[in-house]
Amino acid sequence: MPLARTNWEHYTLWMARLNLMRKLSVLADAAKYDASCASSGGAKRDSRGGTGVGATGGMGVCHAYTPDGRCVSLLKILLTNFCVFDCVYCVNRSSSNVERARFSVKEVVDLTLDFYKRNYIEGLFLSSGVIRSADYTQEQMNRVAQSLRLDHDYRGYIHLKLVAGASPELAAEAGIYADRLSVNIELPLDASLARLAPEKSIGDIKRAMGRVRLGLEDAGDRSHTGRRPPAFAPAGQSTQMVVGADEATDADVLTRADHLYGAYKLRRVYYSAFSPIPDSSAALPLERPHLMREHRLYQADWLMRFYGFGRAEILSAAPGGMLDPAIDPKLAWALANRDRFPMDVNRADREMLLRIPGLGAKTVDRLIGVRRLKRVTLDDLQRLAGSVKRARSFVICEGWTPGAETDAPDLRARLATPSRRAAVQLSLF
Ligand code: SF4
Repeated sequence: MPLARTNWEHYTLWMARLNLMRKLSVLADAAKYDASCASSGGAKRDSRGGTGVGATGGMGVCHAYTPDGRCVSLLKILLTNFCVFDCVYCVNRSSSNVERARFSVKEVVDLTLDFYKRNYIEGLFLSSGVIRSADYTQEQMNRVAQSLRLDHDYRGYIHLKLVAGASPELAAEAGIYADRLSVNIELPLDASLARLAPEKSIGDIKRAMGRVRLGLEDAGDRSHTGRRPPAFAPAGQSTQMVVGADEATDADVLTRADHLYGAYKLRRVYYSAFSPIPDSSAALPLERPHLMREHRLYQADWLMRFYGFGRAEILSAAPGGMLDPAIDPKLAWALANRDRFPMDVNRADREMLLRIPGLGAKTVDRLIGVRRLKRVTLDDLQRLAGSVKRARSFVICEGWTPGAETDAPDLRARLATPSRRAAVQLSLF
């Protein structure tokens, strides 16, 4: 017969629980500045059939997005916010006066499983301040992922932060257990990194990214054995760049992103508008950049990855290296290249259709389907796109030509987004 718990045991359990809640509050708050958390592209795994716990998609997973579009359905925490580094822009830097906490490996494993089983999360996003050394920190994070996968047969999503400077063996091990790995590039300019994060090395960051790229390539290479090698970070790698903490222009940001996509085959570069932090250094701006800057950078990034735009083309319509906050980069390019318009939507190829302001890739594909059956009119385009407010001045359709509208001097003013100076970042928690 089980013995009843003594008051002391009840008290100890209660304190441990309070302690854990406090740690969770501190370490979830500390992690909210990292924007690189979307979970797309993970390998399909699930526990149907009675083996293991969780799934990377389908039933039982709660996908939640904040109104500003960020994915928060991951348990997004730091292993610890103690850090031996003193990166000026970071709230967890060693000289910061914030409350500190540290999870044990078991605590993170238990929290992940508990939250997963209650359907609070679809996976784990784990990062950490650097404690003792890069290797020690990475080893601790790897233990969490290893325990989830091997001890608990956890099949949900895991995104692990890779600590720049950790050994190749630890990077390789992280890739075996994680769906996605990310190394933060931090800032768009090497000089800014040297000034604001002097203990970090751009060489270490790039070497870590290079290792992930090699791991991904090896995992897809059957040439040695004819058999597929073990999976390695099947959702690839991503990074985060802080925007607005230094003097870098949008051209600098996009140049670095373009290089990262090409050199390291990144799935995503996340742009995170700098948030002023308590007791910040005089080397940092006092105000955060306008959120429209972050939004325009994402739009430009999208144009480079999915719409066939070259970085130089986008930047040709960004005077002084800054994207126009009042209009999206595709519209800015079209206004700067009006001689290419109006474009006949019944004749243009897909690549050119994708350059028409206001037409997304899905609309273009549907348009191509419709024009196999009939000549597309402006009404058809309105139905396909939902709105032709931006497109109508740049297209010729059956029965429609914009005439002098394409070259009208006030076209930019008519299509500009009204200033939203009062817009503020919504809280994630
Ligand atoms: S290493 Fe990471 S956690 Fe530590 S101060 Fe720098 S950015 Fe912050």
